[in-house]
Amino acid sequence: MLLRHTPKEITERTALTVNPAKTCQPVGAMYAAFGLKNCLPHSHGSQGCCAYHRSALTRHYKEPVMATSSSFTEGASVFGGQSNLLEAIQNIFTLYKPDVIAVHTTCLSETIGDDIGQIIGRAKEDGKIPPGKFVIHANTPSYIGSHVTGYSNMVKGMVKYLSGKTGEASRMVNIIPGWCEPSDMREIRRMTAEMGIDAIVFPDTSDVLDTPLTGRYEMFPKGGVTLDRLARTGDSVATLALGSTGSQAAAEELDSRHKVKVEVLDIPYGIRSTDRFVQTLSEVTGRPVPVSFTDQRGRAVDLVSDMEAYMTGKRVALFGDPDQLIPLSELLVDIGMRPVYVVTGTPGKAFEERMKLILKDIPEAMYRSSADMFLLHQWIKNQKVDLLIGNTYGKYIARDEDIPFLRFGFPILDRVGHSYLPSVGYAGTLRFLERILNALMDRQDRDALEEKFELVM
Ligand code: SF4
Repeated sequence: MLLRHTPKEITERTALTVNPAKTCQPVGAMYAAFGLKNCLPHSHGSQGCCAYHRSALTRHYKEPVMATSSSFTEGASVFGGQSNLLEAIQNIFTLYKPDVIAVHTTCLSETIGDDIGQIIGRAKEDGKIPPGKFVIHANTPSYIGSHVTGYSNMVKGMVKYLSGKTGEASRMVNIIPGWCEPSDMREIRRMTAEMGIDAIVFPDTSDVLDTPLTGRYEMFPKGGVTLDRLARTGDSVATLALGSTGSQAAAEELDSRHKVKVEVLDIPYGIRSTDRFVQTLSEVTGRPVPVSFTDQRGRAVDLVSDMEAYMTGKRVALFGDPDQLIPLSELLVDIGMRPVYVVTGTPGKAFEERMKLILKDIPEAMYRSSADMFLLHQWIKNQKVDLLIGNTYGKYIARDEDIPFLRFGFPILDRVGHSYLPSVGYAGTLRFLERILNALMDRQDRDALEEKFELVM
């Protein structure tokens, strides 16, 4: 009932967002920074922003999320935050001893115009950065872009500050996994290891935001890409950028610095995107595709062929991040479903261009970037769907319109599993198919008339 006032009549809006299908840039920058070993994210702005970004990540990952803040007050807000950041850098290295401080800006420090690169240079000159330690940064003004843009900016910052080349010949591959879960990054590492490939996955938040409970608190858990590995990314044969919005910029930055070939692919959600991922890995490294992959793929296809009657023709609405929506929509089309409404809050032409191709055989399909969940709800009110896929904020629409709801994306605040169980690769696709089917079949059971209530489905 929370959204009962959403009207059916659609008025085009240009200057107003209602229920955004995104969150703010620093959340993404903070998330990416956790994929670097012994790294402490630092929010250059007020404490309120930092508290919000930390809580957004903690609520999704159910893990403590540590980050420091420049703690702007009135003075810094007027005169700039240089002295706050210089003092923070010194305090952080003294108290917490990270190897890297990853600074991101906020709306406030961006509006003031603080030059973070210059402040880091000053910190170096003043001896505030101990030998062997680093301060990196990304500009993340939240009045443009989204959390995916922030992620992209911080990964690009990692390349700018920390990538390197030894000149030694190698068959290594860099993989920039895009905004996906720690479980997905672990699965990407597992797949490459099974192919016998030495992959530098960065950032890598597995074993950082999905750590086992040991009874001992670790400020810096064991996961994350190491500085030594990042310093060798220039030696790799190629960089696979998974998702153009989140990963392409960093891959291109690495190419411009160290001449490493870039392959822009989708995050491997679904059978076809996983095929392309595995095929490209095989091509750039010369490693064969293991039989175990072919078998796993076959099981996913078998499931689709067994259960397609429950999925064919079902209308789906999706919202979330462009790099996730593109391969998911492709998967839905492949299994006979109809992704009729697709909305992302993240701006970018690439999303609409890809959706146009993927949805070309679904004439009623509508999709939009820089859009919001209010519009999505209005579309649904005008013609109902059979399934809604998106983050936790979709539960209000699902409840109001009585639609089965599959939680996917960021943030998921009211369910578990996303950070532990992968959605990428053939194994992840199987899990995703299972979740779709469960949602649809549970609804069929719920709505079945007494005489149509089936034991075997
Ligand atoms: S939108 Fe801007 S002001 Fe608001 S929390 Fe994000 S960075 Fe801070």
